[in-house]
Amino acid sequence: MAKQSEVILQTLHAHGFEAYWVGGCVRDELMGRAVHDMDLTTSAHPEEIIRLFEHTIPTGIQHGTITVMMEGQPFEVTTYRVEGTYIDHRRPDEVTFVKDIKEDLQRRDFTMNAIARDLDGTYIDPFDGLMDTRRGKIRCVGNPLERFDEDALRMVRCVRFASVFGYSIAKNTWKGLCTQRSHLQYIAMERIRVEIEKVMSGEDPLRGFELLNRSRLLEFAKVPVLCSRFDSELLSRIHELSAESVHLRWGLLLYAGNFNGNEARTYLKKWTFSNQKKDDISSLIDIDEQVRFLFETNNLISLDDSQRLSWISIVLQSGLATAKGWLEIQGVIPEHRRVVSTYDLTILAVWTSQMRIHHLKQLVVSGGDIMQTLKMPSGPWLREMLQHLLLVVSAGIVENTKESLMDEMKRVNKNHG
Ligand code: ATP
Ligand code: MG
Repeated sequence: MAKQSEVILQTLHAHGFEAYWVGGCVRDELMGRAVHDMDLTTSAHPEEIIRLFEHTIPTGIQHGTITVMMEGQPFEVTTYRVEGTYIDHRRPDEVTFVKDIKEDLQRRDFTMNAIARDLDGTYIDPFDGLMDTRRGKIRCVGNPLERFDEDALRMVRCVRFASVFGYSIAKNTWKGLCTQRSHLQYIAMERIRVEIEKVMSGEDPLRGFELLNRSRLLEFAKVPVLCSRFDSELLSRIHELSAESVHLRWGLLLYAGNFNGNEARTYLKKWTFSNQKKDDISSLIDIDEQVRFLFETNNLISLDDSQRLSWISIVLQSGLATAKGWLEIQGVIPEHRRVVSTYDLTILAVWTSQMRIHHLKQLVVSGGDIMQTLKMPSGPWLREMLQHLLLVVSAGIVENTKESLMDEMKRVNKNHG
């Protein structure tokens, strides 16, 4: 565990308080996974934590959480607490501070998340979380029916952990989940999405979707997400796309749901994705439609130069990264489910890699230069001319030099009368 968090624990101990690492960080360390955020729990009350450390932020002071900054790193330190009454199957805002760490561990969702670890490496593990991590089992702390009834988000967390860690779900926990699934309707879509995003960037998203499907959990989300509509043959390829490019995995999910670009946008909006993410993902679907159009309208058996230019314009329009993403997705889709054959796909990839430039700003002439050369005032024609020059330079038809570009713009201008 990080040195800085040790200093926090030592300081709390030195002032007579109990303090431990707890939750995700203890679990991840036990599993040999990278620890990303370190939560600490203590008998000290928020005002005492603030008094003991130089730099603190009252992040969630009403819930007992103070962020302690140690050598520029943030650590969440939370006072032992229990939660108040759960209304509408959501975690309550009201909490009560308690004296005993076991009470704090008891409010946590799963046994593997209810382990505390002391500075000297001893564990406080009243619910046998250590054994469950060894056995790879997700088990509710206490009665699953009650725990999922209190807070319905825990059901999606359960599926998320099962999918990301490859853990099995204890029988009773799964039964409780299936019984309480309808309560998911009370949970905000944003919170569900955060969990599903973790499923998507995990090791085995397919397993996550299968569990969501089997439990019928998402049918009860505020926005129905039509899990069963997804083509499992396509979905089964999802792990072939790197978790680092998670938007490609979302793209493949949309292919598996047979969404067109507009449907994809509506779907992702319901999922409360930011506009940026929504566009990044659905533009991957837009390319498919453009390519389909390109192949249908030209109706050529083999690819020729007019198709090369059409493809290059698609790449320029959608951006190189999106086009490469599309190619990557196509690479994992079985051939009979694609718009283009594997052979054509290779050619599209070669054409993409041969493109000389990708942005207007890489052209050696500007809009101003063009207006000056042609002695014409600005107008819609200027944008068209710039796009034309970008296309011909990108395709290697015209050199990206002032002289060649001047010649080309004069030639085009003359042809257009
Ligand atoms: P992650 O790896 O995504 O951070 P995590 O288990 O650490 O997983 P957090 O949201 O950081 O998830 O929560 C920290 C701890 O708080 C959990 O390990 C668990 O002990 C507790 N916790 C979080 N959400 C809930 C919940 N909905 N119900 C009960 N306990 C919860
Ligand atoms: Mg965490």
